[in-house]
Amino acid sequence: MLPEITIEYEVDGIPTEADSVSDDYLSELLAHSGEQIRAQVSRKLNAARCPEHDHLPRVTVTAQYDTGTEQMELSYHVDSCCQNGLLRAVSALNRQG
Ligand SMILES: [Zn+2]
Repeated sequence: MLPEITIEYEVDGIPTEADSVSDDYLSELLAHSGEQIRAQVSRKLNAARCPEHDHLPRVTVTAQYDTGTEQMELSYHVDSCCQNGLLRAVSALNRQG
């Protein structure tokens, strides 16, 4: 079983879908980044199962792209079964690599 990961995109603060962006380069960039984020978050969270409830956290990642600076920032929203599960998930996400 894999952790449930939802990826949302915002471009210059406006929620958007990667495949509905008219700019081909940006659309490609968002889709590609989304895949990388999903793989990375999934790898980190596989070790973050709650030992008490045997439950994997559910994560929503918002990828915020700024066309001015061409930088992408990520923010995470984590749902878990309990406080302990949540703490494990958050510390796994904060781990580097
Ligand atoms: Zn739990």
